[in-house]
Amino acid sequence: MTPWEVYALKYADRNARIRADSFLFEDTHDAPHPMDYFMWLLRRGDQTILVDTGYDQSEAQARGRPIRLDPGAALRPFGLQPADIDHIIVTHLHYDHAGGLHLFPNARLHMQAAEMAYATGPCMCHDTLRMPFTAGHICEAVQRLYSGKVTFYDGEAQLSEGLTVHCIGGHSRGLQAVRVQTQAGWLVLASDAAHFYENVFERKPFPIVVDLQDMLEGFEKLHSLASSPGLIVPGHDPLVTTYYPQGADKHIWRLDHGPKTPIGY
Ligand SMILES: [Zn+2]
Ligand SMILES: [Zn+2]
Repeated sequence: MTPWEVYALKYADRNARIRADSFLFEDTHDAPHPMDYFMWLLRRGDQTILVDTGYDQSEAQARGRPIRLDPGAALRPFGLQPADIDHIIVTHLHYDHAGGLHLFPNARLHMQAAEMAYATGPCMCHDTLRMPFTAGHICEAVQRLYSGKVTFYDGEAQLSEGLTVHCIGGHSRGLQAVRVQTQAGWLVLASDAAHFYENVFERKPFPIVVDLQDMLEGFEKLHSLASSPGLIVPGHDPLVTTYYPQGADKHIWRLDHGPKTPIGY
């Protein structure tokens, strides 16, 4: 089988954070702990699949969290326009992953049924659980559903040869990790099943959590899915940009050859 190429595209970062924002039960809670924001691109032959969409300028202003790059423009170095994207794996519907869905109008969305149910169900009556979602992004997913362009999964599914999704929950009810066969082995895009290496390597829960047991079991799941621990790619860790080689542009990192150096966060 021809292995997949996998790229991380960084579109934003946020430095005014502390460790208490990243780890429950953290002792050194005041120490700085910056976060990067990524979307991911999978390519094999004539297949191109986007994993998550980032968020746009209006969301950046609404949340006071600036972006460095428009998610649509992030694909230009690959010779891709937003309209070229036919398939998007939506790892979950939080604002920083589903906030650019409207920028890719032709795409079919691949997501867990549990995530749509969660984002449109009674849990959203609670301010705290609703906080990472934005209504317009959820409405965009519902519009896509009513256009016949959503494929739902329930747990694990194979989307293509060497490409599977795995519901992990924990951080959001229907979060799915993406497992891709690369020349370095099975690589796992954890998305927010592990924001940082430290979450998944030290089994430290992230504070935005809907089910702590699911999150902790998700860390084990990520380890079981990857060919080696170094091929687990956390969703928001700035260290990804030092472990992996730079791609064709300064916001792109190539993941499918594996990390350049052993992971020792
Ligand atoms: Zn999230
Ligand atoms: Zn996120």
